Amino acid sequence: MTIKTDALIVGAGPCGVFQIFELGLLGVKCEIVDSLPTVGGQCAELYPDKPIYDIPGIPVCSGQELIDLLMKQAKPFNAGFHLGEEVAEVAIEEGGFRVVTSAGKVFLAKTVFIAGGVGSFQPRKLRLPEAAELEGTHVNYRVKDPSRYKGKRIVVLGGGDSALDWALALYEHAEHLTLVHRRDEFRGAPASAAALIQAAEQGKAEVILSGKIDGIGMEGEQLTSVRIKLPGNELRNIPADELLVFFGLSPKLGPIAEWGFDINRKTINVDTEKFVTNIPGIFAIGDINDYPGKKKLILCGFHEAALAAFAAKSLIEPGKKVHLQYTTTSPIMHKRLGVADPD
Ligand code: FAD
Repeated sequence: MTIKTDALIVGAGPCGVFQIFELGLLGVKCEIVDSLPTVGGQCAELYPDKPIYDIPGIPVCSGQELIDLLMKQAKPFNAGFHLGEEVAEVAIEEGGFRVVTSAGKVFLAKTVFIAGGVGSFQPRKLRLPEAAELEGTHVNYRVKDPSRYKGKRIVVLGGGDSALDWALALYEHAEHLTLVHRRDEFRGAPASAAALIQAAEQGKAEVILSGKIDGIGMEGEQLTSVRIKLPGNELRNIPADELLVFFGLSPKLGPIAEWGFDINRKTINVDTEKFVTNIPGIFAIGDINDYPGKKKLILCGFHEAALAAFAAKSLIEPGKKVHLQYTTTSPIMHKRLGVADPD
């Protein structure tokens, strides 16, 4: 299936989501792709509960609240969201660009907006050869289908929200669940930690603190056990069928580096009039771009999104003048926003 669109946005962080809004105001429909299963980029992944104080007009909001507000603002424009898919290829094609995702989805886009931030977030992996062999079968970094863990002996590694949330979600239906964390305190929400510790006290799950994975036992293609090193170098073998690892996410520029951009370390050089890259028709906004005086701030990305949208509109409708209109007074913008005209 090929999806034709005026604009394709790579990355659904705050700047990518705001790009939907700026394009929408100008009547440009778009599709947006992110390798993560949820929108929000760094705000949602790295600091959902931390306060942000420098968004104009919002004295304080958390990272997740900002994303929720941006999504609400972008809603009238009905962008197509394609989450959990990495954009793997971008190639110039007659009349625009051919964009292919890791899931094999193909887009034909007249313009492309790279809003990839610091790159696509990838789970931090275990550095054990057995883990690589069993990855995707019995060693996993994401839970795709919780029902397959029913009746299994599960070991969960990590001390953040993902580790705690999945341990809480899975222990009741597991044969046995052990959560192992390398520190003596959890990073995740205190309420989740308290709930899991309570379950452990009731004998429904097990929690091991200050323990580090030391090895993996396997027979053929089956996981059989997880070896944990405890304080004092004591080793403990935990029989296991499934290992879930939540060591957080680290960003990788990934395929963006291979699309022919003028790259400056891990950023893409753009101009400051249109925020266009060295490939006409492909724009770069937010943390991923660079120009003299660049500051990696959300509000700078918002400005870049506005100017890039104007430039894209001119490309999509060549020869037509793009007039500046105010959302306060423009009837056509009210129509696009789905709000009643005040007059
Ligand atoms: P990101 O938020 O990085 O989002 C990029 C998205 O692109 C990601 O979701 C990624 O998965 C996706 N992606 C990348 N490559 C691909 C690909 N090939 N295919 C599909 N998807 C892809 N800024 C402020 O202005 N104020 C603050 O107070 C503030 N506090 C911060 C606190 C912390 C702890 C951190 C880490 C940052 C903070 N920042 C703050 C910085 C701010 O979060 C970033 O400037 C902002 O997130 C950049 O937004 P973005 O949309 O450009 O990129």
